[in-house]
Amino acid sequence: LKNDQLDQWDREYFFHPSTHLAQHARGESPNRIVTGGSGVYIEDRNGRRLLDAFAGLYCVNVGYGRTEIAEAIAAQAKELAYYHAYVGHGTEASITLAKMILERAPKNMSKVYFGLGGSDANETNIKLVWYYNNILGRPEKKKIISRWRGYHGSGLMTGSLTGLATFHNKFDLPLAPILHTEAPYYYRRPDSAMSEEDLTAYLAAELEALIEREGADTIAAFIGEPVLGTGGIVPPPAGYWDAIQKVLKKHDILLIADEVVTGFGRLGSMFGSDHYGIEPDIITIAKGLTSAYAPLSGSIVSKKVWEVLERGTDENGPIGHGWTYSAHPIGAAAGVANLKLVDSLGLVKNAAETGRHFLNAMKEAVGGHRHVGEVRGEGLLCALEFVEDKESRRAFDAGKKIGPQIAAALLEEGVIGRAMPQGDILGFAPPLCLTREEADRIVDATVKAVQKVFGA
Ligand code: PLP
Repeated sequence: LKNDQLDQWDREYFFHPSTHLAQHARGESPNRIVTGGSGVYIEDRNGRRLLDAFAGLYCVNVGYGRTEIAEAIAAQAKELAYYHAYVGHGTEASITLAKMILERAPKNMSKVYFGLGGSDANETNIKLVWYYNNILGRPEKKKIISRWRGYHGSGLMTGSLTGLATFHNKFDLPLAPILHTEAPYYYRRPDSAMSEEDLTAYLAAELEALIEREGADTIAAFIGEPVLGTGGIVPPPAGYWDAIQKVLKKHDILLIADEVVTGFGRLGSMFGSDHYGIEPDIITIAKGLTSAYAPLSGSIVSKKVWEVLERGTDENGPIGHGWTYSAHPIGAAAGVANLKLVDSLGLVKNAAETGRHFLNAMKEAVGGHRHVGEVRGEGLLCALEFVEDKESRRAFDAGKKIGPQIAAALLEEGVIGRAMPQGDILGFAPPLCLTREEADRIVDATVKAVQKVFGA
């Protein structure tokens, strides 16, 4: 097929997610037909090779072109492409993967329920939490607290958990049982005199006030990403998770750690929960579980939750929650091969070490620029926040679209970063196999992109 033909069909037939549909259909926005990838690079049909410093959508953690995973997928497809996981069915791959996940997860975890993507896993989590409270005889304890700027998916419930306006507008979201509390966002703290500890104390007090206003007996769970991802790549202020957990424990509210981005090494620890001393009741996993070589997600439930779920089935019969593709053998085979690679390539350690180098180099190269308000990160997550006025942290007028301009200038330098959906924030989440040389290339390209948009 000729490129022109594909371009025409793309604009004629393909409904792309998160896309300006009208501009795309009219041919006003660029499209890219991706044909291959190797390591941290992707290639397109025009023969362009780009350093993907966002690992797809922070998911291709082991990098592109890993034949070990491709071969595991092919072998599984030849042997048995599909069988369901209902009423005790499984495959060697799905059983092995469940064991491998539990061996890596925090100690209080007990079982994995498999799904397809992060959104459906969080949907599962809400149902499990409701089931849990019904079995415990407290059916009114159902509300879920999320954070503004949190990202937990795009479904009706999970889009409601998400605390970003773009995902609510014109969809009549959030739905009623979902509440939002303030984001742990030190750069955008309510009072510039606050220390990180002050902000943590303030956020814990805000959370507690919300719980008391609503009534603790109406609130089932709190959900949060260890590091805010799509909401701006924002590591929490000092002591945040300890303080939040104290409030939740006091009010008997479950904690769901959404580790779709942070699970399997991104922060330089196997899980973000280990990284910050979080003891979740449920953990959401996806993305890095298979490095996106096949769709697969999971809800890891703790012993405490599992015991109640088990009891529920004794009282009510089989749990009425299942997806056709739960524990899909091809996804599971990809997951097993992927987690072996994460270990054999030492990617968790590399994320910590190369991540530190990357963040320091980025701070040194652009941190002093008059429009770079903050360079922040943890492990191999990094973000630059651009501001009109550095001293007052005043944002640019949204119409200027500074974030997208910088991402476009970066692309001209051959590097893919992501203009995050809210605020002028450029995000990086490269594959965890990133080398120092590749990190330096991203930094150099960023310097050029910043100069191009703002002048030297
Ligand atoms: N949770 C988090 C933290 C995410 O970042 C995402 C996606 O980016 C999701 C959930 C939703 O995952 P999916 O897009 O696979 O449904």
